[in-house]
Amino acid sequence: MLRSIKTFDLRGQTILMRLDLNVPLSGENIDDDFRIKSCLPTINYCLSEGASIVIMSHLGRPGGKKTKKHSLIPIGESIASMLECPIKFSEDCISQDAVDTSLSLKPGEIHLLENLRFYKEEEENDAEFSNRLSRHGKVYINDAFGTAHRKHASNVGVVDYFKNYGIGFLIEKEIQYLKEILNKPKRPLILILGGAKVSTKIELINRYIHQADKIIIGGGMAFPFIKAMGYNIGKSLLESSMVEKARSIIDLAQLSGKDLMLPVDVICSKNMDRAPLQSPVNIREIPDNLMGLDIGPRSIKKFNEVLDSALTIIWNGPMGVFEKSSFSNGTRLIADNLVRIVENGATVVAGGGDTSAVLKYFNIMEKLTHVSTGGGASLELMSGKSLKAIERLEV
Ligand code: AMP
Repeated sequence: MLRSIKTFDLRGQTILMRLDLNVPLSGENIDDDFRIKSCLPTINYCLSEGASIVIMSHLGRPGGKKTKKHSLIPIGESIASMLECPIKFSEDCISQDAVDTSLSLKPGEIHLLENLRFYKEEEENDAEFSNRLSRHGKVYINDAFGTAHRKHASNVGVVDYFKNYGIGFLIEKEIQYLKEILNKPKRPLILILGGAKVSTKIELINRYIHQADKIIIGGGMAFPFIKAMGYNIGKSLLESSMVEKARSIIDLAQLSGKDLMLPVDVICSKNMDRAPLQSPVNIREIPDNLMGLDIGPRSIKKFNEVLDSALTIIWNGPMGVFEKSSFSNGTRLIADNLVRIVENGATVVAGGGDTSAVLKYFNIMEKLTHVSTGGGASLELMSGKSLKAIERLEV
């Protein structure tokens, strides 16, 4: 059993809270604050209960070294402006000064620690580092879903030093949607996959080939499958190590009578920076000098008709190079349809990889049933694996 933050008496307590504030930055500007906003319900709840909070997170991959570009200062400023209150900041997550600041917090105050990954001990799950982190608080709450598949000092080792530990509202919600609802979905259940990194999504297909009623594959994901079927894919994106996997998935789908749907036409160009060819190309006839960069109109129509019949949909990855307007049509028309499907009462859960960037791009972030904050963590949870940091919080 996992203990919800609501099970603790937080009044007057200092809470050590692991959040995932690993957001994309351009210099000091935050490109996407979805992860920060998703942490606010837990922070606000603690403050309203009369607790003080010490927040810890990682940002990027500084590789155990202190680097200015991986500082959490811009994130702290963003949290302070969202909450409309000042927050304290320490330039080191385990120094005595930082611990003293935490110990002197008054109810309602927040203290943000500098990037955990400035110490290599964080990713090594080092016991002494965990011990030093634990000195910041009396109750430990993990709400960092995005890193829950990792076994690090701040989300696994640190738990050894607490009697009172549990999960925040974000992890609770992620588990509710990704695990529980998807384990008992209203049918038909359809999985729609796109994007580029096939290897990260193979597990998901392996699980849902049995559980889903249909699987739709678009975007760059489709090409190993088209290649495995023996067709030419020209210069289209190909993770060549995935062709054999794709073949075995096609065979498995055929054996189990599952409908694995692939695009029938694609929008092609000589490269991503060139204008597309006027007419869509049949997916089985891509010339050698072209690459498929978006699904074509016949595929969009076919996919949307099938999606219309679903009561639960899992969506991961764009249908094409959505960042370029010439190749964004497929993703946009599928996304618009998913919004309509949610309005009609079906459940659409999106997550993993670049999906939240896609939703933000098309301005539909709040319009789906649930959008996961996790990339790898959500793929692992949806694939049926247990996440190390969440497992450690079981009592
Ligand atoms: P992922 O992180 O696996 O969801 O991949 C997202 C990326 O896939 C986006 O940046 C898209 O531009 C890219 N993508 C989608 N379809 C294609 C395609 N047909 N060819 C090349 N890249 C693609």
